[in-house]
Amino acid sequence: MAVVGFVGVGRMGGPMASRLLDAGYELCIYDVSPEAMKPFAERGAQIAASPAEVASQAKIVLISLPTPDIVREVALGGNAGLINGSSVKLVIDLSTTGPGVAAEVAGKLAQRRIGWVDSPVSGGVTGAKAGTLAVMVSCPKKVYGEIEPMMKTFGKLFFAGEKPGMAQTAKLANNLLAAAAMVATSEVMAMGVKAGLDAKVLIDIINASSGRNSATQDKFPRAILPRTFDFGFATGLSYKDVRLCVEEAEAMGVPMVVGGAVREMLAITRARFGADSDFTHIAKVLEEWAGVEIKG
Ligand code: NAD
Repeated sequence: MAVVGFVGVGRMGGPMASRLLDAGYELCIYDVSPEAMKPFAERGAQIAASPAEVASQAKIVLISLPTPDIVREVALGGNAGLINGSSVKLVIDLSTTGPGVAAEVAGKLAQRRIGWVDSPVSGGVTGAKAGTLAVMVSCPKKVYGEIEPMMKTFGKLFFAGEKPGMAQTAKLANNLLAAAAMVATSEVMAMGVKAGLDAKVLIDIINASSGRNSATQDKFPRAILPRTFDFGFATGLSYKDVRLCVEEAEAMGVPMVVGGAVREMLAITRARFGADSDFTHIAKVLEEWAGVEIKG
């Protein structure tokens, strides 16, 4: 099989790249963190010194990077950018970067006859490891047909449209909702515990009732009640997603009252616990305000 490039092998990119290796793809990897690349070198993947070097080895390059600025830099930046690779024909962005940067980078790559696919994913590190992610794709239909078998390695595919950024808009909508669920669940859990309810009992009640959501079903039982706060998604990244979503909505004249409040809660969590903290620390902010511990 032809070599596939992969730039950014962090919490999400790492397990996704690993699944490609398991499926028999040959990989060429680049990450600014040598630590992140080490397991891939041990498994026989080629290790490159820059995104451009990856793009000189592989026709298809996948990227999984933290922010829109880093995606822009890796794709277009100076001599080291993917755009300067001699082989690359297609870049697939698995990051959550918003429709703005997708359209901008897609346009610049198109001038060099390099295609662009937005493919943000949902389902967290667990889904990335298990190959059960929701994979949202926007790109020309013909390209979709070509990449579908490889992308199925990551999970279930959803074709969101041909225009660059469509899948990113879908992803932002989902992530704002997931963050809103974290914030609202943290509020009611802090209130319930302060009133004397057992946190585990309250979560069980909600999960059997109409208030259940992704925070009550997954994040609270897995990372907050056991006090591990290690869900695997950084506060800074969640803040970025919600900010991008609210900004997109504002630009389209769609007011987001709840979205604005969720963004501020993430800004508070980031200020209190740092951008690298796990985003389940939202619950810790509420715990501090309420003077309780949500454990069970
Ligand atoms: P991460 O920080 O764990 O991984 C990012 C990787 O990119 C790191 O290994 C980092 O060293 C590398 N990197 C940073 N700058 C680089 C550069 N200039 N060149 C090459 N490599 C560089 O982040 P993550 O949680 O894996 O998230 C990656 C993307 O996936 C983000 O856009 C995030 O919003 C999205 N996402 C994350 C989750 C999750 O649950 N963690 C779920 C869905 C989507």
